Amino acid sequence: MGYGYKPELSEGSIKCPVFQTSTFVFKTAEEGKAFWEKANGKPGTEDVEMGLIYSRINNPDIEILEERLKLWDGGEAAAVFSSGMSAIATSMVSFLKPGDVILMSNPLYGGTHKFIHFMLHNWGVTSIGFNPEDSKEDICKLIEANNAGNTLKMIFVETPANPTNDLIDIEMCSQIAAQYSTADKKVFLAVDNTYMGPLWQHPLKHGADIALYSATKYIGGHSDLIAGAAVGSNAVIKAIKKSRTVFGTIIDPHTSWLLMRSLETLKIRMEAAANNAEKIAEYLLSHPKIEKVYYLGFTKTNKPNQLEVLNKQYLSNGAMISFDLKGGEKEAFVFLNNLKHIKLAVSLGGTESLAEHPFTMTHSDIPVEEKNKLSLTDKMVRLSVGIENWRDLIYDIESALSFV
Ligand SMILES: *Cc1c(COP(=O)(O)O)cnc(C)c1O
Repeated sequence: MGYGYKPELSEGSIKCPVFQTSTFVFKTAEEGKAFWEKANGKPGTEDVEMGLIYSRINNPDIEILEERLKLWDGGEAAAVFSSGMSAIATSMVSFLKPGDVILMSNPLYGGTHKFIHFMLHNWGVTSIGFNPEDSKEDICKLIEANNAGNTLKMIFVETPANPTNDLIDIEMCSQIAAQYSTADKKVFLAVDNTYMGPLWQHPLKHGADIALYSATKYIGGHSDLIAGAAVGSNAVIKAIKKSRTVFGTIIDPHTSWLLMRSLETLKIRMEAAANNAEKIAEYLLSHPKIEKVYYLGFTKTNKPNQLEVLNKQYLSNGAMISFDLKGGEKEAFVFLNNLKHIKLAVSLGGTESLAEHPFTMTHSDIPVEEKNKLSLTDKMVRLSVGIENWRDLIYDIESALSFV
């Protein structure tokens, strides 16, 4: 909780104050010159400690938050951003150039899907999508069929997949990345770890180069801020921070301060939510109006072929549940409209439980045929389980189901 902060530099304040400032005063012109040389990466300044310059480059709240965040994933460094999307977009463009290919898992978070299809495509980066069911051989065949062996530059995966909770083997993806890397072209593996990180899944330990976050979700955890993060090696984060400085996609000091406060309760919040989720998943499974429950704890019966990945990659079954009601959109909407305690809203990972309809909301932009292939249908409801009393949550679900 205190890592990276020195009270003696802030009048003995037990907590890190908010350094709500745009710029920092240099003691001398020589010091200013030295800080800028370091910031610009002048050879010979590698061991010089970076000084504070300007809050689009650095700031104490931002730096201390980064120092703390990297520990959860076992990374060498972290970079924090104004949103999850700015973390993802900035990281992608740090390594991709026109002519490159990005291989992505399906389904992806809607914003990421849009960034790849509407922005990267315009800039000459092409994409290839694979499904969670695909084996290493299937994926390599796909790369070859697209003649992309020489131009593949990044693999981007989201696991568990939202909202179907399908699992993707990160280690397998890192083997594919290694297979298509050459002496002068490294294939980077990036993993969106928003759903299960940073507590229950550590992508870097399975061979990923970058762990990405919407810190808006579990890390922030109180549905009161928008932020993002990237964690990785010193070299990777240095490259990402270079783009962050020119794009201006850095976080602000106050949001950093809020995130430092959130990090102190991250573990107990996530554990409380997972305990609730287990009880709710069991309840849903036995309900006659529910057709199927997508929950990591049911992998053994739902997707036995993904059990090995579950055991290797995850430390919990998490707190995200999706389920199919018997029927379709009508039944799903009746359920959602009759919830009283659980709020009807997108987003996830907050202290309060949220429910939404992926087919017409978060995933409305994905073509219907693609959605059907991924069993993302109009009878599905997604639930982000919070830390309330689980009896209240089940009571609310039970009452809303009685109207269906
Ligand atoms: C919310 C979310 C994002 C985008 O993050 P923002 O903070 O909203 O920009 C990216 N990936 C996943 C999995 C998300 O849930």
